[in-house]
Amino acid sequence: MEYLNNRTEAKATGATHYFTGKPCTRGHIALRKTKGSCVECIKEDWVIDNQKRALKPKSEASRAAGRKYYEKNKEVVKARASSRPANEVRQYKDLHKQKNPEYYKSLTSVRKRRHRNATPAWITKEQKLAMRQLYLQAQQMTQITGERYVVDHIIPLISDEVCGLHVPWNLRVITQEENLKKSNKILAQPA
Ligand SMILES: [Zn+2]
Repeated sequence: MEYLNNRTEAKATGATHYFTGKPCTRGHIALRKTKGSCVECIKEDWVIDNQKRALKPKSEASRAAGRKYYEKNKEVVKARASSRPANEVRQYKDLHKQKNPEYYKSLTSVRKRRHRNATPAWITKEQKLAMRQLYLQAQQMTQITGERYVVDHIIPLISDEVCGLHVPWNLRVITQEENLKKSNKILAQPA
């Protein structure tokens, strides 16, 4: 199938898609809908929407059913919880975090402020997007591998000697384990 390379011409021929060969704002090189956006973006948004829907609070009826189940099967539920593998526990905690944003707000607002303070004013939209994608990448790698990945500031934002910036070239995706090793090393350095 041949695609025209611009929307106007594609629209004129009645085609539903066109292909520019250039990356979209999120970096996909994919078909675009003449009456919409990049098809990969549409897919991504669809996944995000579904995740959001799954996070919405449950109805009172479904909560009541959950309580009833727990009362009846207390021992089974407890045994299952204590034998749950570490990565599942972590996933549950992550979900809890997403479901209780207020509870975690104080933690993240400190981090957010730290990031904002370390972000230079001259940063471009594309660079901001590149950073957002690193966070997304860490999230996806965590989901895929089951090991926790985080975005690390190569030069820490707050340190005694130099303070790093919140810019794409100071960020990298590493495992949480590596990240902890790094912070231990920094703490162990002589003052
Ligand atoms: Zn796209």
